[in-house]
Amino acid sequence: MIAIYTHPSGLHHDTGTAHPESPARLQTLLDLFAEKNWPTIIAREANTEWIARAHPIRHIDALQDAMPDSGLSSIDADTITSPGTWDASLHAAGAACQAVEDVIAGKTKRAFCAMRPPGHHAEPLRANGFCFFNNVFVGALHAQALGLKKIAIVDFDVHHCNGTDAMARLHENVYCISSHQWPLFPGTGGPDDQVPGRVLNLPLPAGTGSQKFRETYETKVFPALEDFKPDLLMISAGFDAHRDDPLAQMELVEDDFEWVTTELVKIADRHCGGRIVSVLEGGYNLDALKHSVESHIKALS
Ligand SMILES: [Zn+2]
Repeated sequence: MIAIYTHPSGLHHDTGTAHPESPARLQTLLDLFAEKNWPTIIAREANTEWIARAHPIRHIDALQDAMPDSGLSSIDADTITSPGTWDASLHAAGAACQAVEDVIAGKTKRAFCAMRPPGHHAEPLRANGFCFFNNVFVGALHAQALGLKKIAIVDFDVHHCNGTDAMARLHENVYCISSHQWPLFPGTGGPDDQVPGRVLNLPLPAGTGSQKFRETYETKVFPALEDFKPDLLMISAGFDAHRDDPLAQMELVEDDFEWVTTELVKIADRHCGGRIVSVLEGGYNLDALKHSVESHIKALS
């Protein structure tokens, strides 16, 4: 049982021509869902109070003030804003919250949020790396507000989740586990950058490939999850570790995403009634993104 959450506002966050984090990414996924006859749920926007659990209100207000009325503007060289960015950002965080609510209420066992902008680089006080609000962490704190205690976030996006990592150091009982190519943007998450029980960083070199990736999950990620025993498992599902992705060189294939998802489902079945909320992060080759998301959703189903 899986529910897929999305919102058309994600198509109106314009990043300009030639930006990898493009509306075409979401359109590709909407086309996939239509092709497969997979129903989607139109997500609500997040309340500001929900986002304010992860980002101070003054930061949220400043971000809103920085949104342009027309044309494009930017937070930094990578992080572009347009008139549609604010609405899309509210719905991206809202999708994660709605998915969490529905999973906790038992309306669905698993959820996938197909939204953009992504979120895992968004730090408490800094939008960066294409990200504005940390959607997965806003969702994790929403789950805690609804009564769950321990939330694990597994991030297999090829980039280190500097935002999620920073938040896990501030909030109790949210365990951030990230595998990522290193060194690579944003440069954080190195081998010595660990907080036992709160942040587990697993930096991997360029050219890692399927076997070493799977070994890392079997020897490090899965045992950490078995020890932590989460009440909810969340996934920051970036697909830019795919070998065809233009931004990195982790050299994975669709089968690896299917494998890791299947293994995470088994762990969720053992510890938290199978509850998984997965949130889209990166993935910039449209064909690879399409096939990887298809594998991920099949494994979640
Ligand atoms: Zn990424």
